[in-house]
Amino acid sequence: MKRIYLSSPTMHGDEQRFVAEAFDTNWVAPLGPNVNNFETEMVSYTGCGYAAALSAGTAAIHLGLKLLGVGQGDVVFVSSLTFSASCNPIAYEKAVPVFIDSEPDTWNMSPAALEKAFEKYPHPKAVVVVHLYGTPAKMDEIMRICERHNVPILEDAAESLGSTYDGKHTGTFGRIGVYSFNGNKIITTSGGGMLVSGEEALVQEARILSTQARDPARHYQHSRIGYNYRMSNVIAGIGRGQLMHLEEHLRLKKAIYQRYREAFSDIREISMNPLNPRGDANNWLSCMTIREGCDVTPDQVMDALDAENIESRPIWKPMHLQPVFAGYEFFNHNESGVSVSEDIFARGVCLPSDIKNTDADMDQVIGIVRGLFNR
Ligand SMILES: *Cc1c(COP(=O)(O)O)cnc(C)c1O
Repeated sequence: MKRIYLSSPTMHGDEQRFVAEAFDTNWVAPLGPNVNNFETEMVSYTGCGYAAALSAGTAAIHLGLKLLGVGQGDVVFVSSLTFSASCNPIAYEKAVPVFIDSEPDTWNMSPAALEKAFEKYPHPKAVVVVHLYGTPAKMDEIMRICERHNVPILEDAAESLGSTYDGKHTGTFGRIGVYSFNGNKIITTSGGGMLVSGEEALVQEARILSTQARDPARHYQHSRIGYNYRMSNVIAGIGRGQLMHLEEHLRLKKAIYQRYREAFSDIREISMNPLNPRGDANNWLSCMTIREGCDVTPDQVMDALDAENIESRPIWKPMHLQPVFAGYEFFNHNESGVSVSEDIFARGVCLPSDIKNTDADMDQVIGIVRGLFNR
């Protein structure tokens, strides 16, 4: 039976051309023209200023935190409804994550919960804001709060390459932005990431730290601890080829989202994941939530799809509910009771959003889901 995927890599041939070029010129070792060109092309696409290609989005978040001076014991505010890679690097530095709830309008960091966190912790070292599933967060409100407290934003745009807010690319609002090219993301290098900033010095520093922090001396001299986090020239070739097709991926992802929205519009128990009216989402994953009180559960939806070899998955389990982060503080958007992030987690499902899905695949998925709601 054919498998229908959530979000798998889609290659076009151009990737192989750049990879072949790397082999033909023996630029297989770290760095080389593909890395430089991939960075330049990302800068011109996003308008981010400067960019350093790295081995993973997680590596970019880690270096980003270091560049913002995050160290042992420092408090870092971070969205709770996200993938663990948003906050694992906080733990690498023995800093203290403080989890911020979502707001219902975009599912991203709640400005109200953020204000509450600032009341208790007026001096966090950084705020990590995520654009979940590609929907831009309420950056205007979040940035105003952070500016008032003079705290830098690290923007985790791992899922939102191509999304804009007020016409500007996500990833370019924070002092530092991060993109991921992991296998399931909107474009992929098999694995990889990028750290971007409007400040050249920060990106230059990221390049140094990501290549073992060598001092500018002929001999191997080190005054600081470095990392082996740089992207290789072969991998960057895949990225260059993918970037040529990003607009096409965006178009297809949007069509998937709109198709689900249309197909479920008559079922009042189903809502699609929210968009941000001030932005244009990349629609990386299309997700549905089931209205409270409905007897169909997310597990039933996932089981029914799984029975037909169709991949779906739960909404990210909020970080403040993870055993590994038990004991860290969480600020609820609501005055009391169940938080917004926990509620979305309890009622949501990520639907197949693979851009290679055919019309027939989409019809099959939609038919299975509609059937569960007796439609
Ligand atoms: C994928 C992802 C990352 C990590 O990126 P990798 O390239 O896989 O290390 C970070 N944050 C979020 C929100 C992600 O979805």
